[in-house]
Amino acid sequence: MARETADAVIIGGGVMGTSIAFQLARRGFGKIVLLERDGIASGTSGKSSALVRMHYSNESTIRMAWRSLDIFENFEEITGGGQASFKQPGYLVFANEALAEGVQRNVSLARSLGVETEWIDPGEVARLAPWARLDDLAGAAYERRSGYADPYGVAMGFADGARKHGAIIRQNCPVTGVRVEGGRAVGVDTPRGPVDSPVVVNAAGAWVNKVAGLSGDWFPAEAIREQDTVFETAGIGGERVGVMVYDAPTKLYFRPEGADLLLIGRDNIEPEHVDPDDFNEKEDMAFVLDVVKRMTPRWPDFENAHLLRGWGCLYCITPDWMPIMDRHPGTAGYFICTGMSGHGFKLSPAVGEMMAELIMTGACPRPDISDYRLARFSEGRLMQSVFDRGFQG
Ligand SMILES: Cc1cc2nc3c(=O)[nH]c(=O)nc-3n(C[C@H](O)[C@H](O)[C@H](O)COP(=O)(O)OP(=O)(O)OC[C@H]3O[C@@H](n4cnc5c(N)ncnc54)[C@H](O)[C@@H]3O)c2cc1C
Repeated sequence: MARETADAVIIGGGVMGTSIAFQLARRGFGKIVLLERDGIASGTSGKSSALVRMHYSNESTIRMAWRSLDIFENFEEITGGGQASFKQPGYLVFANEALAEGVQRNVSLARSLGVETEWIDPGEVARLAPWARLDDLAGAAYERRSGYADPYGVAMGFADGARKHGAIIRQNCPVTGVRVEGGRAVGVDTPRGPVDSPVVVNAAGAWVNKVAGLSGDWFPAEAIREQDTVFETAGIGGERVGVMVYDAPTKLYFRPEGADLLLIGRDNIEPEHVDPDDFNEKEDMAFVLDVVKRMTPRWPDFENAHLLRGWGCLYCITPDWMPIMDRHPGTAGYFICTGMSGHGFKLSPAVGEMMAELIMTGACPRPDISDYRLARFSEGRLMQSVFDRGFQG
């Protein structure tokens, strides 16, 4: 088997791995090799709801989302031909009295950082969501430029962009060993032969600890099962949902999927820990019924909607539901980018830039990558959110 050398090896071809590969390649870091055990976006990324919004509770994540929006809006130009199919119907965060203060605080923080967002009262919410019953709401955060993209197209766009800058994207090529010598990462093994490299990036998403285990490591990130559904809402009466919503009181999120469909997911109320190589990839009927039960009081016409499809897939969660982006504390040249906790898609463009900067310069102060360091868990400095722990951040 041929022995190969690279300047950086990236493990995992989801939106994180491909974004990092693209950003390193376009900065001329050298020979970049991305290794994906299956196909590009075959893991979580290809099954993402792909909502892109800026509403977060802390500065660095707001900055990441805001920077990423810019890249989604100009994706084709930036990647040199990739197709994000980004649509911008706008985004509402429904808040009741209990949540209003926290959501308003988030809006103020985001506005202070230049984000286009505002707090709107129930009358204005009714104008944007005429189909909804809003009696329990104190108002909503509104982001006019938020939207959703095609997650497969985004991962492929980053991968193609990386290729254009000379990166090698190798699919059907699992990493079977991570080699460490004298406290340094020196490369990886694959069934097609070893790749020697002074930089190894573990971007294996929910498989992070399967890959970490190859060098005797473990990181505080776990795979849990998450479900999504798509309902046909054509002709059920009432107005169409023409905006994306996180409905904090019902814990549902939803967005249009084309003209006549509605994609709906729910906050992960009781995390179901799973083996990422062995879990139920179909939706549960109990989950579907719960979605209908929560949605119908909000949109009474929804009781006539039909389930079109559903699926089960993976979140990779950390103890504070925020990413890990860091250097390995004991192995030079080994980098970790994982634990996106159900909200990584929208951050992936900025993550690529930040990881590239960390790898090339040893730091990334803005957005501050040190907020996502591994040591925050042992230091007891978990990141905070105005929402219950969950993907909302
Ligand atoms: C149902 C659902 C809805 C979501 N909705 C949103 C949303 O609306 N907005 C948002 O921002 N985020 C959302 N997310 C989260 C977002 O999709 C993820 O955070 C993001 O896709 C994670 O990307 P990743 O590259 O880290 O992981 P992945 O896409 O899983 O990529 C990891 C890759 O590593 C590969 N791999 C594993 N082991 C090896 C190995 N040994 N060798 C080589 N390759 C390997 C896997 O095959 C996989 O392709 C959602 C997630 C789910 C599940």
